Amino acid sequence: MSGLLGYTCCFMPPELHMWVLMFQAATYLGTYIRKCDVCGVRDARVMQRHTGRALCEKCFKENIVSRFSAEVSKYRMFGSGDRILLALSGGKDSYVLLDVVKEVHDVSKIGIVTIIEGIEGYNRFEDIDWIVATAREYGIDLYVTSFKEYTGYSLDELVKLGKLKGFDISPCTYCGVLRRRIINYYARSQGYDKVLTAHNLDDEVQTYIMNILRGDSGRLIQNHPLSRTLSRYFVKRVKPLRKIYEWETSVYAYMRGFRFQELECPYIRYQPTLRAEIRDYLYEVEQERPGSLLRVIEAIDIYIERELLSRPLGFEELPTCSACGAPTAQGRKICVLCEVLDKLGISSRVPF
Ligand code: SF4
Ligand code: ZN
Ligand code: ZN
Repeated sequence: MSGLLGYTCCFMPPELHMWVLMFQAATYLGTYIRKCDVCGVRDARVMQRHTGRALCEKCFKENIVSRFSAEVSKYRMFGSGDRILLALSGGKDSYVLLDVVKEVHDVSKIGIVTIIEGIEGYNRFEDIDWIVATAREYGIDLYVTSFKEYTGYSLDELVKLGKLKGFDISPCTYCGVLRRRIINYYARSQGYDKVLTAHNLDDEVQTYIMNILRGDSGRLIQNHPLSRTLSRYFVKRVKPLRKIYEWETSVYAYMRGFRFQELECPYIRYQPTLRAEIRDYLYEVEQERPGSLLRVIEAIDIYIERELLSRPLGFEELPTCSACGAPTAQGRKICVLCEVLDKLGISSRVPF
């Protein structure tokens, strides 16, 4: 699965990882009998190991919002006049993204798109209740859609069909390409300037390292916030939570009392094992040397800014698919999505 995907649900941690996050959250919340290192007034509730500070609930939330805003302004991710579309999955990170964005941006310029993949027991309509309620409360435009609406099939049905036809296509392939396509379609057709996704620091460092280990410099650059979009048909995607630790989004979500999608996707075993290995290794490093993930992302960001961003791409923009007209990779005549749907005998063409 690609780190370019629009949602964070694909990075939902496996059971053990979720347990570790919960343990961290439970340990940090409520066990500190000392005053907050920032305000000095309220009781500390969170130990932020990478800064060495113990924070009260209010100062912790303010810290998250200010780091979010610093990243947005450092990379000019979006401006006050921009119409921004939040791609939300219903997981904790997407709840945190919405909660912070509605505080810092004009709500009349925010939209939300959320896609139900159609995976039994996972990411159902009832899991996005808070997103729906928040959108109503703040008058935010909300687009709820599904894979079925665009292809005639849920993800489970696509997987079954693929097996019946004898194709070895990972569920994450259908899921990733369809989500990217549908999110971009809403952004373009509804006139949004930017798409915001809820990837956190852990996701981003894993993706950077995966791309380095694979020697994929093209994707390495594409993960940098200043990378250019490769086609005029793509709406720029930005990740304002990219310097917030995953444990911090967990703590924030619990403090806010969000009821979010906690189950992991049953297809998670189809993800590349490389990502899981990198994630486990990085946890160990972070445990031993708090702040390591932040130092890694900053070092790679700087390297890309100095050495890679100014290099010419070697092409003006991506070619377009001869079947659906969407941008496709260099050297391809037909896009991956049309290729996969054709293999399954599905004639629908998904707009972009
Ligand atoms: Fe993530 Fe794969 Fe599940 Fe889609 S099918 S939500 S990409 S694990
Ligand atoms: Zn405080
Ligand atoms: Zn196509």
